[in-house]
Amino acid sequence: MPEKMISHYDVIIAGSGSIGAPAAFYLAQAGCKVLVLDGAPSVGQGSNKRAIGGVRATHSDPAKIRLCLRSIEIFRTWQEIYGEDIEWITGGYNFVAYRPEEEQTLKTLLVKQKSLGLNIDWYAKDDLLKIVPGLNPANLLGGTYSPEDGNCSPLLALHAFYVHACQAGAAFHYNEPVTGLVIQSGKIKGVQTAHGEYAADVVINAAGAWARSIGLMAGLDLPVNPDCHEAGITESVAQFLGPMVVDIRPGPGSANFYFYQHKTGQIIFCITPSPSIWGFDVDETSIFLPQIARRMIAVMPKLQTIRVRRTWRGLYPMTPDGTPIVGWSKEVEGLLNAVGMCGQGFMLGPGMGELLTRMVVKQLTPEDGEVLEILSPYREFKGQEKLK
Ligand SMILES: Cc1cc2nc3c(=O)[nH]c(=O)nc-3n(C[C@H](O)[C@H](O)[C@H](O)COP(=O)(O)OP(=O)(O)OC[C@H]3O[C@@H](n4cnc5c(N)ncnc54)[C@H](O)[C@@H]3O)c2cc1C
Repeated sequence: MPEKMISHYDVIIAGSGSIGAPAAFYLAQAGCKVLVLDGAPSVGQGSNKRAIGGVRATHSDPAKIRLCLRSIEIFRTWQEIYGEDIEWITGGYNFVAYRPEEEQTLKTLLVKQKSLGLNIDWYAKDDLLKIVPGLNPANLLGGTYSPEDGNCSPLLALHAFYVHACQAGAAFHYNEPVTGLVIQSGKIKGVQTAHGEYAADVVINAAGAWARSIGLMAGLDLPVNPDCHEAGITESVAQFLGPMVVDIRPGPGSANFYFYQHKTGQIIFCITPSPSIWGFDVDETSIFLPQIARRMIAVMPKLQTIRVRRTWRGLYPMTPDGTPIVGWSKEVEGLLNAVGMCGQGFMLGPGMGELLTRMVVKQLTPEDGEVLEILSPYREFKGQEKLK
C-alpha cells in the first residue's frame, strides 16, 4: 500500500444516499470492511431526503419488480426485526383512469404485471370508489390497485440503515467527498479525498445525481443526468386516504402527478414536469404549487381546503431509458456502478443494497443474472420504462 494511503477497506462507497446506506449495511453484515464517503454532513442529504417515500413493486420492468418486491419486504418488516419505526404503511398504489387512453395503458401493463406475479387488479369505477372514496367520480373509468405496495419515511429509513450499518462495523465519513479514483493498470486501488487516499479492492459509485462526475474520474461517461422535480406536504389531517393515487394523464407542464397520506396524517405530493427540467437547481419555484393544486383538486375535490405547509425540489438521477445502471465496469476492474435510479431510488435501495452485496461477495443467484442484464451499463438504452 502506498504510504499516503490512510487505511485499507474491502469496499468504499461514494455516496450515503438511498443506495449507499443500505448497501453499506448489507456489505458490513456480510463481513466486509466498509467505508462510506459523502460530501454532505449526514446520511441521506442528497436526493433521498427529497423523495416522498412511495414504495411500489408495480413497475413494467422485471428487474425493478424483483428488487422492489424485496425492498417492500425489508421496509414492511423493519420495525419488527430491527426496532425502528420508519413509518411504513402498506397502503397500496392506485393508478386512476379518467380517459380511455389511460385505461388502455394500465390494462395492457396489468397483463405483464400479473404475469410477473404482482398482486394488482383493475377495479371499475364503483369498486374503485370503495377503495378510494375521495376520488372525483365524474368521468372516472376505474383504475388499478395494488394493495401490497406502500410508503414510509425516507429520512427515518435511511437513518435506520445508517445506525445498523455502523453497528455492523461500517465507517461513514461526512463532509468528505470523493475527489479522485486511484487506478493502476486498469484496476481500482482506492479513492482520493481532501484528507488523503484510502485503499480499497472495490469502489461503488452510488453518488446519485452526481454519479457522472465519479464515472469521469475513471474516464467513464455514464449517461446520468439531474432532472428537477418538486414536491410538497400539507398540514396533518385525520386518516382518509389509503393508497398512493397516481394520475398518468398529461396536463399543462406536467406528465403525471401523485399523492398519498403519510402515517402521520399529511398529504405528500409530487409532479413530473413536462418537458423535463435538467440541471442541479434545487430552489423551489412559484409554478409548482398552483400547477399541482389544480390537478389534485380535480382528482380529489375534498383536498381544496387543506393547507400546504412546505414545498421543496430535488433531483432524479435520470438515464436515457428510465432504468437504473448497475454493473461492474469493464474498463476499470473493481469499480461497481449503482447509478441512475431515476424516480425510484428510495424504493430500490434495500433490494439493491442486497444485490450489490451479492455482487461483491460473489454469491449471485440466477435471478440476479437476469436483473443485471436488464440494468447493464453496456445495454443500448433504447425504449422507455412505461411507469418511470
Ligand atoms: C421530489 C422527489 C420525489 C421523489 N419521490 C420518490 C419516491 O416516492 N420513491 C422513490 O423510490 N424515489 C423517489 N424519488 C427519487 C429518489 O429520491 C432517488 O431516486 C434516490 O434518492 C437516488 O438514490 P441515490 O442513492 O442514487 O442518490 P442520493 O440519495 O442522492 O445519494 C447520493 C449521495 O452521493 C453523495 N455524493 C455526491 N457526490 C459525491 C462525491 N463526489 N463523493 C461522495 N459522495 C458524493 C451525495 O451527497 C448524496 O448523499 C424522488 C425524488 C424527488 C426529487
